[in-house]
Amino acid sequence: MNKPASVSDQFDAVVVGAGFSGLYMLYRLRQLGLSVKGFDSAGDVGGTWYWNRYPGARCDIATPDYTFSFDPELENEWTWSEKYATQPEILDYLRFVADRYGLRSDIQFSTTVTSARWDEQEKRWTITTGHGQEIRCRYYIMATGCLSMPKSPDIEGAGRFAGQVYFTSRWPHEGVDFTGQRVAVIGTGSSGIQVIPLIARQASQLTVFQRTPNFSIPAHNGPAPADRLRQLDEDRDGYRHDARWSRIGVPNEPTDVLGVTASEAVRRERFEAAWEQGELAGIVNVFADQLFNPASNDILAEMIREKIRSIVTDPETAETLCPKDHYFGTKRPCLDTGYFDTYNLPHVRLVDLRKQPIVSITEDGIETADESFGFDAIVYATGFDAMTGALVAADVTGRDGLSLKEKWAAGPSTYLGLMTAGFPNFFMLTGPGSPSVLSNMAVSIEQHVDWVAGCLKDMREEGLDTIEPTELAESGWNQHVQDCGAITLMPTANSWYMGANVPGKPRVFLPYIGGVDAYRQACDDVVGQGYLGFRMTGPGADRCRDGVIRSMQPDVAMVLEFLAAMGLPPMDTLPADDARALMAATAAARPPGPEVGEVTDGVIPGPAGDLPYRLYRPAGPPEGPRPLVVYFHGGGWVLGNLDSDDPLCRDLCERSGAVVVSVNYRHAPEARFPAAALDAFAAVQWAAANALELGGIPGQLAVAGWSAGANIATVACQLARDAEGPHISGQVLICPVVDSDMTRLSYQENGDGYILTTALMRWFWDHYTDPADRGEPRAAPLRGDLHGLPSTCIVAADFDPLRDEGVAYAHALEAAGVPVRLARARGHTHTSVTMVGTVISGAPVRAEIAEALRNFFPSAEPLEHALQRS
Ligand code: NAP
Repeated sequence: MNKPASVSDQFDAVVVGAGFSGLYMLYRLRQLGLSVKGFDSAGDVGGTWYWNRYPGARCDIATPDYTFSFDPELENEWTWSEKYATQPEILDYLRFVADRYGLRSDIQFSTTVTSARWDEQEKRWTITTGHGQEIRCRYYIMATGCLSMPKSPDIEGAGRFAGQVYFTSRWPHEGVDFTGQRVAVIGTGSSGIQVIPLIARQASQLTVFQRTPNFSIPAHNGPAPADRLRQLDEDRDGYRHDARWSRIGVPNEPTDVLGVTASEAVRRERFEAAWEQGELAGIVNVFADQLFNPASNDILAEMIREKIRSIVTDPETAETLCPKDHYFGTKRPCLDTGYFDTYNLPHVRLVDLRKQPIVSITEDGIETADESFGFDAIVYATGFDAMTGALVAADVTGRDGLSLKEKWAAGPSTYLGLMTAGFPNFFMLTGPGSPSVLSNMAVSIEQHVDWVAGCLKDMREEGLDTIEPTELAESGWNQHVQDCGAITLMPTANSWYMGANVPGKPRVFLPYIGGVDAYRQACDDVVGQGYLGFRMTGPGADRCRDGVIRSMQPDVAMVLEFLAAMGLPPMDTLPADDARALMAATAAARPPGPEVGEVTDGVIPGPAGDLPYRLYRPAGPPEGPRPLVVYFHGGGWVLGNLDSDDPLCRDLCERSGAVVVSVNYRHAPEARFPAAALDAFAAVQWAAANALELGGIPGQLAVAGWSAGANIATVACQLARDAEGPHISGQVLICPVVDSDMTRLSYQENGDGYILTTALMRWFWDHYTDPADRGEPRAAPLRGDLHGLPSTCIVAADFDPLRDEGVAYAHALEAAGVPVRLARARGHTHTSVTMVGTVISGAPVRAEIAEALRNFFPSAEPLEHALQRS
């Protein structure tokens, strides 16, 4: 029974929402012996399944997976009737769960929480309800769902229609009979795609107003998949474990087939299998690169479009239904039952709002730019203010009077999607910054609830009573969430994942796309590291271990994992030739880098014989000479050749618009110090003298290099300065070796596990120089005179042992009056910035390098001026 209004009450915890997450949270809090009060504005349990009662509403994760797994007895007592259960069946299930654990007695229904305010003195939240009640609690938990706040209709005249108006998200409990009616449906997302075929069965006329066509595959509903049930029967724990440690919360082996390189037969076979399977887990796993590589995504998208064309008989309607303005998976893909076939029915019409936008809703229908339509009923399937809408709808005010709405004005900011700084003891279940909507919600909800329950238990045991993330941990996590999104195609779409469906909402990628498994690991690691990034206080003692749980770029971490799994021998344990062969073998397996206009090989006369070079000329105009960049590859003076940095040279050439001349040089141990440096200087002299022949503009020459190549590049600059020529406009030093001192902090932090190790660096130095030479500026240019050197761009990568010497070089150059640009390769290793085509997150750094190169050269300087100047 509901409590009377205006009572004041005290609870350990308040949970808002009585759907999947709220119910399980209540259960866990009770298990901990905490006093709990639940609220829901609905009249009963069910959450999303209470409200979304439109015909055709079903889950789109198969029922063996879309279910609680915390209690094996509960699993034994419930049997789903279908692969994708209908809304009434899921609601029954949640009622069954509420009854089985007696949860209803703690929940006050038909009650909206209107505000929550943190009292810093009392260390309590004060919760106010729409009935005027005030509740005090220590922990305030929002289990309000990600898609629970309907988007208000943003269409002109929406209130004017005199007929019946329905929202899929607030469907009448008694149902609706559309028999004989002229019905409009606005919206073709998951809700629209589910409801349209069923309304078409009743309505005399159905007109669908489509703004954006959506990708949908047939659900192939029927009995729950037999193979899944068998696996569960045989090893339920193993199955659930695999789900928890999978990418999307459904056991599924991630493919390593790349769409761009697979044969047509393999592509077709994988796609048809996913189409037949009718599961999201299958269609998002056709190609490993489908969400990263536009070309791969196009292949998959076109196969889906072919299916649509084969189903819909009217070619124009078929074409209108084919999504072409977003990549597959960047808006939530749908599962349907007869959706596309519905458009073959004579009384169903599709209106393309891109061609004839809605001008206004009128009293009796809808007016578009071209036509007036009369209707008896309009159904809005226009979606939700997703992920943040419900959280900011209640007035949540944290420390110092800051409201959540204010704090999130530019987009949500959370730690792990669970908490937000300034709001102690305030937990969000499946909040923004967690996998939530990109995963099987049942699995993600259980993980979140378990984490919160575990946290409260730990706090109690340690005598702590408040918890709150630090600003550092939170901003680190937000960055990681955005980094994970940025390497995918997701940010390219106007989706609700990006907040783009709600006018005025900040455009930020809202969920965490790193995977359920990676996310679970991060949450576990936070706890394992003593609640890293949380400030906890209490009579027991205050404590805070501040830090960032994930700061490496996600694709860099993937590459490291991949390499670790290959179990290659450490290079520093090999003879030089074997190390060279290993490097060549790994280089052969990588993507080739971008196309350039022209690639030619040649030789340069060096001090001790010819030096091979490879010249890259950008494609397209302008014809004629361009600035020239002489580039030296990395490899610790021991490894590498013209092939080893080929993709990087292509990338630099295309991005900068310069002619890049990559020069090979003598290697150690065959030719030790200072052979490589002398070759580099000779190459720069020769390139300057032969600029025109190389297609360069005389006098517009820069040098560049990576790692040891950057070492000899900058040594060449020092030698050119001392020799008073040639003129060098600038130097780009990517993760350079500039000193032989291996005691800097970056060696301690990054000397193991990130490909370039301390041991390998020592191996390089030993091959190249005698210890006595290592202080010489031609080996350790940081120790030389830095006055009069050209403008410099230095790239320093976070996880590089050489990071701090690069930074020290930048500071020393600056102190010597040299213009310096220090590009921080955030979250990168010594090698990752150069991994063109593999490490997508390196692209912005390479763009910065290219910009620095362009800035070295006076723009559009007429050739005759350049010739005069040189
Ligand atoms: P949605 O995916 O956001 O779709 C809303 C539709 O309405 C879109 O087609 C949108 O067009 C259109 N729309 C919005 N405002 C409009 C306007 N002013 N004029 C014309 N068209 C407008 O919303 P949803 O279908 O309710 O689904 C939301 C999410 O809920 C799904 O992505 C899914 O995660 C979940 N869901 C799941 C199931 C399930 O199968 N289990 C069922 C329903 C929902 P634009 O695309 O151009 O914005």
